Amino acid sequence: MSITTQQQPSPSVDRLRATVAGAVLTPGDAGFDTELTGFNLASTPAASIVVGATCADDVAAAVRYAAFHGLRVGVRATGHGASPEGAGQLIVTTSRMTDVAVDPESRTARASAGARWRDVVAATAPHGLTGRVGSSSSVGVVGYTLGGGLSPLGREFGYAADHVRALEVVTADGAVRTVDTDSDPDLFWALRGGRDGLGIVTAIEFGLVELSQIYGGGMFFAGDSARDVLHAWRRWAPALPAEAGTSVAITRLPPDPDLPPPLQGQVVAHLRYTHTGDPDVADALLAPMRTSGRILLDGVGVMPVAALDAVHMDPPGPLPASDRGAALTALPAEAVDAILAVAGPDVPSPLAIVEIRLLGGALRRPHGTDNAVTGRDAAFAVTAIGVCAGPLGDQVDKDLRAVTDAVAPGPPGRY
Ligand SMILES: Cc1cc2nc3c(=O)[nH]c(=O)nc-3n(C[C@H](O)[C@H](O)[C@H](O)COP(=O)(O)OP(=O)(O)OC[C@H]3O[C@@H](n4cnc5c(N)ncnc54)[C@H](O)[C@@H]3O)c2cc1C
Repeated sequence: MSITTQQQPSPSVDRLRATVAGAVLTPGDAGFDTELTGFNLASTPAASIVVGATCADDVAAAVRYAAFHGLRVGVRATGHGASPEGAGQLIVTTSRMTDVAVDPESRTARASAGARWRDVVAATAPHGLTGRVGSSSSVGVVGYTLGGGLSPLGREFGYAADHVRALEVVTADGAVRTVDTDSDPDLFWALRGGRDGLGIVTAIEFGLVELSQIYGGGMFFAGDSARDVLHAWRRWAPALPAEAGTSVAITRLPPDPDLPPPLQGQVVAHLRYTHTGDPDVADALLAPMRTSGRILLDGVGVMPVAALDAVHMDPPGPLPASDRGAALTALPAEAVDAILAVAGPDVPSPLAIVEIRLLGGALRRPHGTDNAVTGRDAAFAVTAIGVCAGPLGDQVDKDLRAVTDAVAPGPPGRY
């Protein structure tokens, strides 16, 4: 959010402290660094003031204060999304605002700004309902949804942004507004998919679907099968029905004793699969992939939707990471070969995950009113994630660019 008011001398933080119920911290205060440390250690922003908001009024007071003193405002919930916040900013943290309420009758949830998907899952699962949760339930609901929100279930149920019913937002003038199709259609359109620079969302209301169980999970293949598995996936995935979701990734797993022994320290091809229909049908559809390579671990079967994290097995973090993405209208064999050339098991690489996700289905069209989600005509999304540490850490940006340039030259997509 950009505030244009002229800068005033010596902001009086004490006045802000008196107004805000939550914490107001400046560099050197106990807890200042912790407040800004989130999942991604490579994207900890510099700030001159941090406001740990507890409610919409705290957010509004922080925004008004920033406007008066000419400070740019940033916002973060969990620190999962890299955000180029500069020094001299006021950052609002929303991690204290975790309330979630579910109305099973109208199949609607309302989540406060700092709620993570796991908070929503805990509230919806007892009702046999789910939202469009992403690959990791530790991600924040608001940041994820405002960015579009690509769920493993998205081919059947659409982007999370497509199912937002209303947003409570603090805009740059410091007012708390409820924004929906009637009250402010333009801002409502832009926030759903446009994410940055439009205001601080303090609560979000969104639709749920009835679903408590899926057939799904992850299947890990040995690195020496990666080429066969990726090419088999390229031919297999596009023919799947919309109730099936899938991605495949080259994953460099750490020598973590908490991982199953066959996976520790391995470079693997990781097939992810979800199917919301009949488990027998889902199993039969998956059969060709089960014979596409040497399986180290097959974790696919009937599972509660509340356990969806097991499909992608994203790193629990925190870690210093950088990512880059690309959207593809087709996945030619050359694109798979290019990914293998940069990040395949035979190449030393700092890229922990290079993933190809199948898009299409309900992701192609907005549900109800249109919104700012882009790339609906894409058939695949490629996302590369590098760990900016260790002997190859300096190579991350070059390798990220090499992956996306090889598959889709042009500006990167956002994950
Ligand atoms: C392990 C992992 C798995 C992921 N899986 C998926 C996935 O499956 N599908 C997918 O689509 N994305 C996925 N993402 C990307 C994720 O959705 C984005 O990074 C998202 O922005 C994270 O939001 P956050 O609030 O958790 O992170 P934060 O870093 O706290 O916030 C990121 C940005 O979101 C915006 N934001 C956060 N809160 C607010 C607010 N209250 N008001 C306005 N703007 C706000 C701000 O621009 C902020 O800079 C994943 C990321 C990681 C690290």
